Amino acid sequence: MAKTSLDKSVKRRERSERLQPKADSELMARLRALERAQRPLDPGASRRKRLRGEVVAASERFLRKIDTAKAFEESENKGERLLSHPISEEGIPLETAIELLENDVFLPGGQPASGGYLAYIPGGGLYHSALGDFMAAVTNKYSGLFFAGPGAVRMENMLVRWAADLVGYPASASGHISSGGSIANLVAITTARDAHGLKGAEFATTVVYLTSQAHHSIDKALRIAGLAEVQVRHVPIDGHYRMRTDALAEMIAADRTQGLRPWLIIAAGGTTDTGAIDPLDEIATIAQRERCWFHVDAAYGGFFLLTEEGKAKLKGIERSDSAVLDPHKSLFLPYGAGMVVVRDAAPLIASQHYSGSYMQDALCEAGDISPSDVSPELTKHFRALRMWLPLILVGTRPFRAALEEKLLLARYFYEEVQKLGFEVGPPPDLTVVTYRWEPPGATTEEVDRMNQAIVDGTRHDGRVFLSSTMLDGRFTLRMVALHFRTHLRTIQLALRVLREQAEAFTE
Ligand SMILES: *Cc1c(COP(=O)(O)O)cnc(C)c1O
Repeated sequence: MAKTSLDKSVKRRERSERLQPKADSELMARLRALERAQRPLDPGASRRKRLRGEVVAASERFLRKIDTAKAFEESENKGERLLSHPISEEGIPLETAIELLENDVFLPGGQPASGGYLAYIPGGGLYHSALGDFMAAVTNKYSGLFFAGPGAVRMENMLVRWAADLVGYPASASGHISSGGSIANLVAITTARDAHGLKGAEFATTVVYLTSQAHHSIDKALRIAGLAEVQVRHVPIDGHYRMRTDALAEMIAADRTQGLRPWLIIAAGGTTDTGAIDPLDEIATIAQRERCWFHVDAAYGGFFLLTEEGKAKLKGIERSDSAVLDPHKSLFLPYGAGMVVVRDAAPLIASQHYSGSYMQDALCEAGDISPSDVSPELTKHFRALRMWLPLILVGTRPFRAALEEKLLLARYFYEEVQKLGFEVGPPPDLTVVTYRWEPPGATTEEVDRMNQAIVDGTRHDGRVFLSSTMLDGRFTLRMVALHFRTHLRTIQLALRVLREQAEAFTE
């Protein structure tokens, strides 16, 4: 039987080759050759096993050392060796690639996967999210349109709903998972622009209110949204770096008498510099009265809503029109996950929806709102999976514990760093502590120089990574507890490093 069918197929091929012009058999040969040549793109099971084994082994080597690895590595070549392997016709062995990654990419600079990373706003890097990313990439599920990936879209919308519930928004809320807080702020600002029907001619008489402590991504978003001409009012702040609501009300009243159009109030749910939370509830009352759009930038502080303390301190966020929360900050996800939630889906959809004629098949199916209708993106990374997998597997309780721990660690650091002789800023609202070495009698320049030396010294030491900022024109040190691997022993190590650095000035 097998023989007959083989004979038949041989005969058939001979017949077709006789019938077809020579050019066609050349085409067949060429197609077969090209198929062979691209085989490396789709490794078989045993090759996959070997690739995966090497990658898993490298990630295990990384994680085994993460508790003792430097939080900042001042390397000589800063990853330059990477350039000695330009992209070329031939590939390089995986072992070579991993060796390059380990020495020239993973090592130099800051180590955001380390608990000793106490600089800027620390990130995270949950292992479950890495596995989620792996599956998202292998399946390459399309998550921009309900039609193409109904499960993936339901997953994203379910996470948006979960965040909207945390914020305290009604059922009308919507939003999406963005690449980060900057894009999330941009979407909120364009939504606020369109919700108020702002047109170019009105921009110069339109006013936005925020404090000097607002994140620079807000300025950038205003510019990108074409709103560079709007009037930006910096509302004065109090001794805790929080917006003064009396000043806000006065500014709005003054602007109204001048015939200007108060439009948008942006408050912080934890500023980047000091972690200060603006008085959201009082601001909400003013925004309501003045019919301004009220946006809360809680990119850093948002997921502290999981804790009782955070919920109390962020009270009033539920009265906002839009909010930004970064899962790659206070939810410990790897970089590449922000979130915008908007109280009412309608203005968000009106601002962000899109339909191309080539998408007509996708539009006829009813279902959940598609992320592409509530965000600037169409095709996008299946980000929901990296957020869903850790939450669904471990539940929210460990997240709450980690965040409560960070709040206490910041308070502990605040007390202990004073015992070392440092001056401190206001008690932390969340988990940012500002402090400064400020011996009596030293001039401002001397103080700035000493603190610069301290932060440089700690970076050179590398066991922990701390950063600095300018507050009220003065060089100030910052410590931020936010990483899920930051624990009491990490904070004690930071205090030890700081004591060693300060000793240089006490001898
Ligand atoms: C980090 C941060 C941003 C910007 O978010 P990215 O995810 O870095 O783009 C915006 N606002 C605040 C308050 C932040 O802390």
